[in-house]
Amino acid sequence: MARTTQNLQLYNTLTREKARFKPLDPAHIRLYVCGPTVYDFAHIGNARPVIVFDVLYRLLSHLFGREHVTYVRNITDVDDKINARALRDFPDLPLNAAIAKVTKTTADQFHADVAALGCLEPTHEPRATDNIQQMQDMIAALIAKGHAYEAEGEVLFDTASMADYGALSKRNLDEQQAGARIEVEAHKRNAADFVLWKGSSETEPGWESPWGRGRPGWHIECSAMSNRYLWDAVADQLSDDAKAHAHEFDIHGGGLDLIFPHHENEIAQSRCAHDAGAMARVWMHNGFLQVEGEKMSKSLGNFITINELLATDKFGGRKWPGEVLRLAMLMTHYREPIDFSVRKLEEASNILERWYQLAGKALPERDADWENEIVDQALSNDLNTPDAIRRLSTLADAVRDQPEAAGRFKQVANLLGFLTQTKSEWDAAKRADVTLSDDEILAQIAARHAARQAKDWAEGDRIRDELLKMGIQLKDAKNPETGEIETTWEVKR
Ligand SMILES: [Zn+2]
Repeated sequence: MARTTQNLQLYNTLTREKARFKPLDPAHIRLYVCGPTVYDFAHIGNARPVIVFDVLYRLLSHLFGREHVTYVRNITDVDDKINARALRDFPDLPLNAAIAKVTKTTADQFHADVAALGCLEPTHEPRATDNIQQMQDMIAALIAKGHAYEAEGEVLFDTASMADYGALSKRNLDEQQAGARIEVEAHKRNAADFVLWKGSSETEPGWESPWGRGRPGWHIECSAMSNRYLWDAVADQLSDDAKAHAHEFDIHGGGLDLIFPHHENEIAQSRCAHDAGAMARVWMHNGFLQVEGEKMSKSLGNFITINELLATDKFGGRKWPGEVLRLAMLMTHYREPIDFSVRKLEEASNILERWYQLAGKALPERDADWENEIVDQALSNDLNTPDAIRRLSTLADAVRDQPEAAGRFKQVANLLGFLTQTKSEWDAAKRADVTLSDDEILAQIAARHAARQAKDWAEGDRIRDELLKMGIQLKDAKNPETGEIETTWEVKR
């Protein structure tokens, strides 16, 4: 093990308390995060959990060793939204081929997007459609144990069969009953009962099952996939202590909006199918995201995909490097709501510019004190990334006065997934929307110089302003030896 883990404190939605993280088996840390439903481009709200739990994965890897952490993030590739999108976008293809096209294109885009945000790949990325048998096994177990029943072509979870159903969201079953529209769902025993399996028509995707040709409900996907990769695949390697907590794993993460019903129902399925005391020990949820002070929605016209931020000028009139998005996201603590804004991106861009200038070309070298400060004081305090970023900026001040520390600074910034590029890659990413080549810029500078020599100040200013419009800022400085004015340029953004 890399170092002591006594200090890692995590807030647990289940207990509503921050507590010391005690892994079931420190040699096998197990983390599950709900992944995307692949029917549309991921928006910046979807980016938040991916970035937040990437930091957690990096932290756990730092504390326990990468080879001791298993991180599973699924892909939901069976969903009615996917069917609808397939019919809309590819009406001439057979449904299965159309669905395959939608899910492949969307999943590929998602991978490209999150890679640009500096997120590591999870250990496993299972797809729902590769785990249908595991879901059916789990549903069969739930029926056999009296926790599920068939009604009108569906299999439903019987929420009344679980004494403490609702413990995560602290919802009371009676309250839920009172508010429900019983009349439209007469086949349910309780209003809160939810679908495990539903019948498919000829034109819907489906799999043969003991309950007829059909498809799984969304919640059962995560229960089946987490159990497959975080229990079945590793159970025989676990410590005796961990084996005594059969089917449990350490941490389950996702957005706040998933607490109810998704995570509540995952818990109900997993615990009841396996007679387990818990599904995950710690439940972590990231807060909501707004854009410029408003809820993001297609109708308000402020709906932004990750790809639009990276590849178009739709937000703030320019493209943004993925690392800037990452920093802007982590400047707010993961449990707080975040207000995503152009101003925040500009601030993040300026911080990174300064860090890259200081980190320079120096080779990474470790500094245990700096590392411990960032890890123990900030990240281990319930993933306090804003504190870590503040501390990094203070360390940057120290680097300014002792350039030999540049490599150490870079190393410690890497802990959060920053400064992983070279300075020239960063410059290139920053000027991705500058269309001029270096030679063209130098030619413009020469033309301006000639104009000024000829005392055509207006022409000199015009060239300067033209370049500025294209994101190139000129800086004039007198060479102390020759007394001549020399002009340098940088990407202004
Ligand atoms: Zn899930």
